[in-house]
Amino acid sequence: MPEPPALRVCALYPDLMNIYADRGNLIVLERRCAWRGIGFELTASGLGEPLAAEDHELFYLGGGQDRDQRLCAEDLLEHKRAALHAAAGRGAVVLGVCGGYQLLGHSYALGEERIEGVGLLDVETVREDGPRLIGNVAIELDGLAGVRPGSVLAGFENHGGRTRLGTGQAPLGRVLRGHGNDGRSGSEGAVAANTIGTYLHGPLLPKNVWFADWLIATALGLDPAELAPLPDEIERMAHESACRAAGL
Ligand code: GLN
Repeated sequence: MPEPPALRVCALYPDLMNIYADRGNLIVLERRCAWRGIGFELTASGLGEPLAAEDHELFYLGGGQDRDQRLCAEDLLEHKRAALHAAAGRGAVVLGVCGGYQLLGHSYALGEERIEGVGLLDVETVREDGPRLIGNVAIELDGLAGVRPGSVLAGFENHGGRTRLGTGQAPLGRVLRGHGNDGRSGSEGAVAANTIGTYLHGPLLPKNVWFADWLIATALGLDPAELAPLPDEIERMAHESACRAAGL
């Protein structure tokens, strides 16, 4: 019998980048693997700690306050950027939520200050004077490989930063309700190969378990249809309730 696959996840700064209980995303990944008999290993990498590109199939960076993002950004550049690029280059999944998404881009500008990101996504974020972009949000995914067109992610956003996509940078989806990247463009998030950034908290994965399965399958080099189905009645209700909360 071949060994069942194991998903090795690295959570970047789980104590600092965990706004709106974004850590819940990791629990969903762990549970959905366990229920299917897929091994799951979670490693944390915090400030000053190195990152081994080869040791993980999925890297996760949650949302955070500006001051914590500053600390993490410096550390990402010094200790983790090269490994993240190497991992993404060999097809590992990298998921950033909100503050984590901003740090996967080129920069996050706050007035005169410019926080440099790791540059895995061709996006730039600027903290403008306008109000924070807050509320329930629903997006329709545009062409993420292996995702049925029209699939919806629902969640909650709260960000001061406005994110602009570079020419040629694909968004994660189209805003159905809410603000998305900047409240104007109608785009939400960004995706480049298996690196994904999104403003959706919720946390994201408990409200959108189909997306958790997409991440697990992609990280393991499988088609999502190859994962054993799970009895998801409660999870579907959570998704529908998040869609309703967003006004869908
Ligand atoms: N500090 C960032 C902003 O306000 C990200 C916030 C978040 O992660 N919710 O734009």
